[in-house]
Formats: sequence, structure tokens, C-alpha cells
Amino acid sequence: DAFFVELPKVELHAHLNGSLSSATMLELKRFHADSGLEDKTNAFFDEFQIGAGDTRGLSDCFQVFSIAHSLTSTPDSLALATRLTLQEFQDDGCCYLELRSTPRDTPHMTKLQYIETIIKAIRKASVHLTMITTLIVSINRNQPLGEADEIANLAIECFKKYPENVVGIELSGDPMAGTFQSFIPALTKARGAGLKVTLHCGEVCNPKEVLEMLKFKPERIGHGVCIHPKYGGTDETWSLLCKLKIPVEVCLTSNVNTKSTPDYDSHHFQYLHEAEIPIILCTDDKGVFATSLSREYQICVKTFAMTYSQAARLSLNACQYVFAHNTRKMLNDKILNFIEKHSL
Ligand code: 5GP
Repeated sequence: DAFFVELPKVELHAHLNGSLSSATMLELKRFHADSGLEDKTNAFFDEFQIGAGDTRGLSDCFQVFSIAHSLTSTPDSLALATRLTLQEFQDDGCCYLELRSTPRDTPHMTKLQYIETIIKAIRKASVHLTMITTLIVSINRNQPLGEADEIANLAIECFKKYPENVVGIELSGDPMAGTFQSFIPALTKARGAGLKVTLHCGEVCNPKEVLEMLKFKPERIGHGVCIHPKYGGTDETWSLLCKLKIPVEVCLTSNVNTKSTPDYDSHHFQYLHEAEIPIILCTDDKGVFATSLSREYQICVKTFAMTYSQAARLSLNACQYVFAHNTRKMLNDKILNFIEKHSL
């Protein structure tokens, strides 16, 4: 349905290496071959996408990212992946994208070069894109604490150097690995320097950790599946979220395909919505889950019997929670303009 593509949307939860579409992956493979780089993805290439009926669960999903990682290990291929992905988000009707990625040391670049390569690619692409893109630096909770501290320092350094491009820091990676508590010092340091914080929260049943995360008062949380008592949370976790009203980045297809949620109909979206907790529809990993932001809006409308007007207002509301404060009014005006033009 063209409406969902035309609706101006903000994407606030998109992992770069999970967002690579099949077309982008193929282009990266070609680029690799042309550059004479070793391509280790052939045997696994078909395993990158995780569809609805896939037998793999959440923890298996974390293995597929290494397929993408092997195709973004040089500055040139990482820049290409960024450029193509930005274009796809714009083509899908995104007017603002907060891209996130975990800096990695590779044989071809350091973590700092990794971040700066993405920033440069964003700046270069922005010259001919109407979509605004900013970067959230990711910490993988599956990695040693020393890495988290190093990444927090790099995020601060880049935030100071490129304040228009770097806006936040986030915690992601296998939710069964590590403890949130141990990442508090690194996240607090980054927050103290002015970076906004978003946390993957409640992807698995762990009410103690959910409480710790909510008490940290991140600017946003990702997923928030196991917070309501019906989904593995407790009365305490749910009432704290209702009290704090921390905006939730909701990724419908990701939750269904990783089996965090049995199906769209029983997704916790409806509970968040009823409790008036701000919701931002996002894709998470549009490449891995073969989706797009317009598709997520369409699924939401269909599943929860919403009107187009309600969908447009969901997008309008989401722009209040973008980390780049200075873009909020412009985004608000743009979406409002669309709403008025279409008498929604
Ligand atoms: P990258 O940070 O390399 O650009 O994107 C891939 C990484 O994002 C993964 O290795 C993982 O750490 C994180 N990630 C992607 N999707 C998910 C998700 O659904 N849940 C969590 N917890 N982490 C994710």
C-alpha cells in the first residue's frame, strides 16, 4: 500500500549490519570479489534472513550477524553498506534515521576508524538525501567490559568531534549474556558527556534486570517484551514502566520472527498503547527479518485495526523522541503537513 511508504516516518532502532538487504549483501559480495578480498559468506549466505516460520530462536539470531560482518570489514565496504542502507530507508519514506552500530576492530580498521567511516558515509550521503541520519554507538553485552569502556570513550570522543552526527549510546547483543549492572559505569560516563541512552530491555524474561534498566531512566528502551506480567514481567516492572512512561522502540516483525512473541495478534503493542506509553515503530534488522518500516506500519494497522489517521499520528508522536533535539520541530512540521494534506 503506497500510503505507508508515502507517510513520512522516523526510524529509531536500526542496527546497521542487521539492516543490509539482500540487494545490498549481493552488492557487497561483488565489491569484495572486485577488491580481491576473501569472501567467507558463500556457505552461509542463505542463512542471513530469518523469516516467520524459521526454526531458529533469539539466541541463534545473533550468529547471523557474523555473515554481514564479514562483508563490512573494510572501510570501503562499510561505507558502501552505509550508503546503500541509507538510500533504502529514504526510498521507504523515512525522513529521519537513527542508525546504530557496534564498532569493531577488524584486520582493516580500528574501532575509531569504524565509527568515523560510518560518520563520513552519512555526511557524504546526506548531500543528496532529504532524510536526516544520525548515529547511535552500540555496546555489545556479549563482549568483555573493557570493550564497553573503550567504546564509551570513543563514543564521547566522536560526539565531541561530530556533534551533529553522533547522538547516543545503546546496549544490545545477546540478552542472555552479561549483566546490565556491569555496563552502568560505561553508560553513565557517556550520558555524563551528553550522549542519550537507549537500552535493549526485556527481550527475555528477567524482571530483576528490567527493573535495574528502568531505574537507570534511559531516554528510550528497545523491545520491552517481558515487562507486562502477561509476557514474563511482574506487576512491579509494568507499573514502573507505566509510571516513567519511557518510550519503547517496538519491532513487531523482529519479535515475531525471533519468537519473543508468538504472533502479531498477541504482541505487547496493545498493552503499551492502552497504557499510553509512547511507542515508536521500528524495524530492528530490516535485512535479517526481510521487512521495512512502511511494512511495519502496515502490519500494525492491520493487526490492531487502526485507521490511517492513527498510523500517521503514531509517526507524528514518534518524532518527539528522536535524540537530535534540533530536528524535532522540522520533523513534526513535515509529518503534520502530510496529515493535513491528506485530511487525516
Ligand atoms: P551492528 O551493530 O554490527 O551494526 O549490528 C548487528 C549487531 O546488533 C548484533 O551483533 C547485535 O549485537 C545487535 N543486534 C541486532 N539485532 C538485535 C536484537 O534483536 N536484539 C539484540 N539484543 N541485539 C541485536
